[in-house]
Amino acid sequence: LVGKFAAFRSTIFAEMTALAQRTGAINLGQGFPDSDGPPELLSAAAEAVLSGHNQYPPLPGVPALRTAIAEQRAADYGTPYDPDTEILVTAGATEAIAAAIAALVPAGDEVLVFEPYYDSYGAAIALAGAVRRTVRLRPAGDRFTFDPGELAAAVTPRTRAFLVNTPHNPTGTVLSAAELAAVAELCERHDLIAITDEVYEHLVFDGVRHVPLASLPGMAARTLTISSAGKTFNATGWKVGWICGPAPMVAAVRTVKQYLTFAGGTPFQHAVAAVLPDRHRWLDSLRARLTATRDTLRDTLTATGWRCFACQGTYFLQVDAGSVGYVDGTALCHDLATEAQVVAIPSGAFYADPASGREFVRFAFCKSPAVIATAAARLAGFA
Ligand code: PMP
Ligand code: GLN
Repeated sequence: LVGKFAAFRSTIFAEMTALAQRTGAINLGQGFPDSDGPPELLSAAAEAVLSGHNQYPPLPGVPALRTAIAEQRAADYGTPYDPDTEILVTAGATEAIAAAIAALVPAGDEVLVFEPYYDSYGAAIALAGAVRRTVRLRPAGDRFTFDPGELAAAVTPRTRAFLVNTPHNPTGTVLSAAELAAVAELCERHDLIAITDEVYEHLVFDGVRHVPLASLPGMAARTLTISSAGKTFNATGWKVGWICGPAPMVAAVRTVKQYLTFAGGTPFQHAVAAVLPDRHRWLDSLRARLTATRDTLRDTLTATGWRCFACQGTYFLQVDAGSVGYVDGTALCHDLATEAQVVAIPSGAFYADPASGREFVRFAFCKSPAVIATAAARLAGFA
């Protein structure tokens, strides 16, 4: 292995998807749906290609998409953004996260993150030459949360930013009003920038509400909010994401972004702009389908002795490897792939030290009811 970032090797998602392809196992590892988004989205993309939207878009993104994003955030959360200066379209949420940290956190300063965290966070912080500080989420009953004392103790004079993900991958936690208030209070007390990853903003279940940190009193002025069309419209391969926030912060992110990718995905941006205003019916049905597949998986596993954690949102259900006799999630995932023909993700991949999360395993349930029923039956037979 060569290169400055050799330690990051290949992502667990690429590794486990390759394993599923090699073995023919059902892939509940990498989080991507097995069906496409709404037909209107697909035809809008085809139309955009055929009607000549195939050259570079403007650096900040096509105006119609920025306007649609501003309208969505105002309607859903009451947070106003100026489409010209406060919204930037990015190559997925992944680019937005990396560009935001590179733009706003000086090398050597610290970024606070809840651990476990989505794997690109560690790499994005390292690419910026910044330092990661973690605050652990742990199960309290069956739901993962943080200890406010530990959170307060994690901040140092070098801490610049707090990278927050809600709904949270991989735990399925959606931060509550009280938890968000604690995060906001900490950011204000220590003058931190908040960078919030809300790619699962619409994928919340059982009446749980997603509340953006930027909508809390005083927080809009210090918060960059990130989302993506990938999860909202079953289009993870399109890599259309965005970041919204105060104009000077968005301008700083734009400066970095222009030298990473400049811009991209013109026809896909037009297609997302066309359907975002009519998202409600699609999202109601998507949430209903995800609730049903989550329930099938969780109920079948629980009935056969697996310990499942609460899943309030996202694509993911976490389980305790110990409940089926394993101390190590990696060993469990290996045996599941070969013996049950189901691929999952060992959640140690979401920890700075994988040993810290070795008892947890993550299943993605964003698949058809038939696939989930088959996978659940195989897992029930394994336990
Ligand atoms: N953040 C989280 C929490 C994710 O789970 C993912 C994976 N989709 C991303 C960011 C990346 O999003 P995108 O594909 O839009 O880059
Ligand atoms: N967000 C997806 C997950 O958590 C993976 C995206 C990727 O492959 N990088 O499974």
